[in-house]
Amino acid sequence: MRIFGKGFNFSQDGPGNRLVYHLSGCNMACIWCSNPDGMSHTAGKDYSVKEIVDECISCRPMFFSNGGVTFTGGEATLQADELIEVLTALKHAGIHTAIETNGTSKRLPEIAELVDYLIMDFKHHDSEILKSFTGVGNEAIKLNFEHFCGIGRQLHIRIPLINGVNADSPESFAKYFSRFNTQNVVFEFLAYHEYGKEKWQGEYKMENGFVTPDTIAKFKSVFKEYGLNTVIT
Ligand code: SF4
Repeated sequence: MRIFGKGFNFSQDGPGNRLVYHLSGCNMACIWCSNPDGMSHTAGKDYSVKEIVDECISCRPMFFSNGGVTFTGGEATLQADELIEVLTALKHAGIHTAIETNGTSKRLPEIAELVDYLIMDFKHHDSEILKSFTGVGNEAIKLNFEHFCGIGRQLHIRIPLINGVNADSPESFAKYFSRFNTQNVVFEFLAYHEYGKEKWQGEYKMENGFVTPDTIAKFKSVFKEYGLNTVIT
């Protein structure tokens, strides 16, 4: 498994205190990405499945407040075979697992069966607009969302709110989501930030992406009107 970063955080990528692995490589190219250094599949270093599993088991005392291990990226599902091996071993070891994914993988339903907590980005309801900012449309993301709603599984949807990209259309998002069974789905809004800007080394194309607290409040109130659950982490 190729990894370009790892470390602990509390309650940001799943419940409790978590060991978070950033897997190398991404199939999207979001112009606001805060981890451009991990977009290439050659970034970072290779670890064997055994090395990862042993490390997670050795960190077990750190997984307080119902914590565990999270796999993110880049895009973790690009390394589906290794991910499945690690998740299977962690399941046998009784360690809580989460993944944070851009939602584009056809193998996500298979992977999700091994995961306790599933976090999926949903950046835009309009495929063409999403493609213009990330290089990838949303067809597979919608199929995965609809599949998870259909089976009623826990799902945490993250929407990065970005001025000039998606922040002017809360109703369009809410209308789409409310067509499905979202009983076990929570929605989180993440305000655009520029933490990764300097890592782009002068190639950062995003301009004026910041949103106001009013925009976030508007999304929350529209989602509430449509009966959608929102969450803050
Ligand atoms: S999907 Fe995530 S990791 Fe991939 S380019 Fe977009 S923001 Fe970066």
